[in-house]
Amino acid sequence: MTQFFKKKDQISKEIKIYKEKGKTIGFVPTMGSIHEGHLSLVKQAKKENDLVVVSIFVNPIQFDNKDDYKNYPRSEEADTQSLRRANCDIIFMPSEEEMYPKGDKEKIKYKIGDLAKKLEGKFRKGHFSGVITIVQKLFDIVNPDKAYFGQKDYQQYLIIDKYVKDNKLPIEIVLCPTVREKDGLAASSRNILLKSHERKSAAILYKTLNRARIKLNSQNIQDVKTWAMKYINSYPNIEAEYVEIVNAKDLSALKTLDGAEKAVICAAVNVGGVRLIDNIMVN
Ligand code: AMP
Repeated sequence: MTQFFKKKDQISKEIKIYKEKGKTIGFVPTMGSIHEGHLSLVKQAKKENDLVVVSIFVNPIQFDNKDDYKNYPRSEEADTQSLRRANCDIIFMPSEEEMYPKGDKEKIKYKIGDLAKKLEGKFRKGHFSGVITIVQKLFDIVNPDKAYFGQKDYQQYLIIDKYVKDNKLPIEIVLCPTVREKDGLAASSRNILLKSHERKSAAILYKTLNRARIKLNSQNIQDVKTWAMKYINSYPNIEAEYVEIVNAKDLSALKTLDGAEKAVICAAVNVGGVRLIDNIMVN
């Protein structure tokens, strides 16, 4: 049976009892509008822990754009049902007041460093410090042994992993593969905001990443990046924000693929005002 909490003190008390009994806790933080990507994280967490906690909270301080926050899809009823079906043990769905009492939205004082300045960091000011702030608050409440994050938000994973290591938190950060829809588009809460003609164009993003990866066998990084931007922009309803081919360890710029153990191709696009990101690894 799935337990449901809105209050942090109550869920913490319950989790403390489980932990005193020696149970391990797997944690999946989300912003809701639960889809197959989220459910794959729950499945992985179920395999590796005694209990799985999923939080649903649309975190205002990680949005630099008010409309994006306002329009972010919310579906508490359907989410609860999906998570119950997935045998999630505990759902935590706090209010804004519960997470930011008295409206105190001060961000955590932690210098993320170079990782936050790249890719998404250039386009979404203060986004990652907002993410770290809520993740730390949730870690304090849930006290997990392992926490699960999706590769779709690869930069977010790297930053949280670094934060946990820098602060010596006793939590293992687990990276899970990106779940995709039939045409390759990465599952995302934002996909339901797309009109049908935009939804078709959105599929170009993953196609471009794949074609770019093949082109890297015969062309240099700069040419492939230029090609990918042009290719995306040649389609209607979709506009490339960036395409970067970087070192998968630290997102540092790469001039060539020689020497890099693993590279990652990361891209962000705008489809009818909806911002989508995706990435694929290059070995
Ligand atoms: P969100 O609700 O978008 O903040 O995502 C919550 C978690 O689910 C994050 O760790 C995401 O990286 C992960 N996630 C979102 N979409 C996918 C996907 N298509 N495949 C795998 N993980 C995902």
